[in-house]
Amino acid sequence: MEAGFQARQCCPLCRAEDNATLCELAFDEPPMATFLDAFYHGSIPAQALRGHSYRVVRCRRCGFIYQDPILDDNGMQALYQDWIDNARSLRKKQTAKAKLFRQYAGQIQSLIRLLPGDPGQMRVLEFGMGWGYWSRMAQAHGLDVTGYELAGERRDYARAMGVKVVSELPPPGAHYDCLYANQVFEHLPDPAASLRELCARLAPGGLVYIRVPDGRGIGARLARRGWSPELDAIHPLEHINCFTRKTLIELAAGEGLKPLNPPLRLHWGSLLSGLRREISDRYLTTHVVFRREP
Ligand SMILES: [Zn+2]
Repeated sequence: MEAGFQARQCCPLCRAEDNATLCELAFDEPPMATFLDAFYHGSIPAQALRGHSYRVVRCRRCGFIYQDPILDDNGMQALYQDWIDNARSLRKKQTAKAKLFRQYAGQIQSLIRLLPGDPGQMRVLEFGMGWGYWSRMAQAHGLDVTGYELAGERRDYARAMGVKVVSELPPPGAHYDCLYANQVFEHLPDPAASLRELCARLAPGGLVYIRVPDGRGIGARLARRGWSPELDAIHPLEHINCFTRKTLIELAAGEGLKPLNPPLRLHWGSLLSGLRREISDRYLTTHVVFRREP
């Protein structure tokens, strides 16, 4: 089971085959090798990357920015199981500041306001649950939550914390009133196919809440001289799809999902910052709640 790379045959968003290269850097030479070595603490074996290049392309038809090539199945497995430091990832959650939990609670309370029934009647699937912290918060708000996660270690941890956990989706049907995916779709080799699979398990009129890194301005940044890899929307190996609000809405439209405007949250005491947040929520952010047309 050797980790390798695979080409993407077409644009993950519109399936066009014609694209332009925005950036190309060898994985095994500086600055990329230096970045990967520091970020993954030297855990990537040299032979896994030798002879391959980090390449960011823009689809000539729809403008979507994505990485091509990407790791193949074995490579993805190695990345998420072995190269990423799981103990460190868990520790980050265990030592998180109160702000993170306030954010989770805020997201969940906003979702509950948009859902058609009382929390106990609402079935929520967290797709890519990780260690289960969001699922636990959703549970504490009374929702009927299931966490989907591929990594066994994370599933075991979440299960021990009382989360209902699955490693496979149920057969198609109206299983869930709400799907939540936080920082997941930027990692998926075929995000459109994954969203289709998820929506086949969504009740009519159900909600889909997707949060991805914001790729606004990445094209311009890549065109400037002196660009170097960092933890952003085109993070090497991991953030293989670079969404903007526009392309995220296009992805969702393919499944009959329409973006919802978040409820107004203006207060006289902080009107200016409130307005700024409203504009961002409505027109800019890549955190979007969608509703499927009933
Ligand atoms: Zn495209």
